[in-house]
Amino acid sequence: MGFSTTAIHAGNEPDIATGAVSVPIYQTSTYAQEGLGKHKGFEYARTQNPTRLALEKNIAALENAKYGYAFASGMSAIDTVLKLVKAGDHVILGDNTYGGTYRLFSRILVDYGIEFDLADTSDLTNLESSFKPNTKMVFVETPTNPVMTVTDLHGVSELAHARGAKVVCDNTFLSPYFQKPIDLGCDIVVHSTTKYLNGHSDSVGGFVALNDEADAEWIKFVQNSIGAILSPFDSFLVLRGTKTLAVRMEAHDKNGRVVANFLAEHPKVQKVYYPGLASHPQHELAKKQQTGFGGMVAFETGSLENAKRVLEGVKLCTLGESLGGVESLISHPATMTHASVPTETRNKLGITDGLVRISVGIEDVEDIIEDLDQALK
Ligand SMILES: *Cc1c(COP(=O)(O)O)cnc(C)c1O
Repeated sequence: MGFSTTAIHAGNEPDIATGAVSVPIYQTSTYAQEGLGKHKGFEYARTQNPTRLALEKNIAALENAKYGYAFASGMSAIDTVLKLVKAGDHVILGDNTYGGTYRLFSRILVDYGIEFDLADTSDLTNLESSFKPNTKMVFVETPTNPVMTVTDLHGVSELAHARGAKVVCDNTFLSPYFQKPIDLGCDIVVHSTTKYLNGHSDSVGGFVALNDEADAEWIKFVQNSIGAILSPFDSFLVLRGTKTLAVRMEAHDKNGRVVANFLAEHPKVQKVYYPGLASHPQHELAKKQQTGFGGMVAFETGSLENAKRVLEGVKLCTLGESLGGVESLISHPATMTHASVPTETRNKLGITDGLVRISVGIEDVEDIIEDLDQALK
């Protein structure tokens, strides 16, 4: 079955009770049981909810995964995956992940005995030297936020598996439409559904998809034990969002390429970060492991003042955190999404005070360009 067909039909069976074509929002906390131990597979809504279950089947199918679990946020999904490692275990974390992921490791997990080291996962030789005898997991994000560094997922998986470690990939930036980490050898995929999967900037959520049965059982157990579940209403919204994922991603990609090329030629722009540009250092790798480049573009304006002028000068693009919605969003990583990353680390990664990130929306691209052009002037 093709991607769009799966997106529209997986998990979306007509409602058993009424035939409703759209999976209803099962807004209930509990379910009537016919007798002791006799029920329809639904006991209590933290444990099971039909709307959430439909979404779980849907996104798991899109990622070519056997199992999927929906969470209250991307961060709670990531935190749950980190419950697969125990005190004394070591995790290699990509050195340019989402700021919140770094904060989870550096401020919380370390206090529970989880050791971690940062590594540039795009450099496999460097990654290889980061493994320790107790390394149990490699956590990567590709392309990275916001400088769009691409990591070879197949290469990372081979290195990790030879050393008994699992590979987790945060696939938020491309969505399964443009990248399928499990097909590339990764063990677990995580998402912030807040971004492209929901796609309309009106819900916060997260997702974990995987194939290993024992790990899936544990993720499900933790999901129920901790209870950071996605609500029925948000499950409905994300399920509605994924139906149009293919057409939205095509449109984000088309506009993203045009905006990246426009910025690359603009005299006020010093550097553009977009894997779809031939000048991107990993353009060939991106072409090989991704089926598109998406709508995330970052560019260097040279200084905080210049960045401020652009960020405050735009009229169509909305200044705000987040990404992946139908509307173009513009942000300042150094003070917004990556404020919790130490200045020194930020500068090393290229997340300078002059860096601006755009989540290119699906408006008419001429309007986005006109807006950026007037703000840059
Ligand atoms: C937003 C984001 C997260 C965190 O997700 P929330 O839904 O905000 O908790 C994790 N990873 C990436 C790449 C993100 O963009």
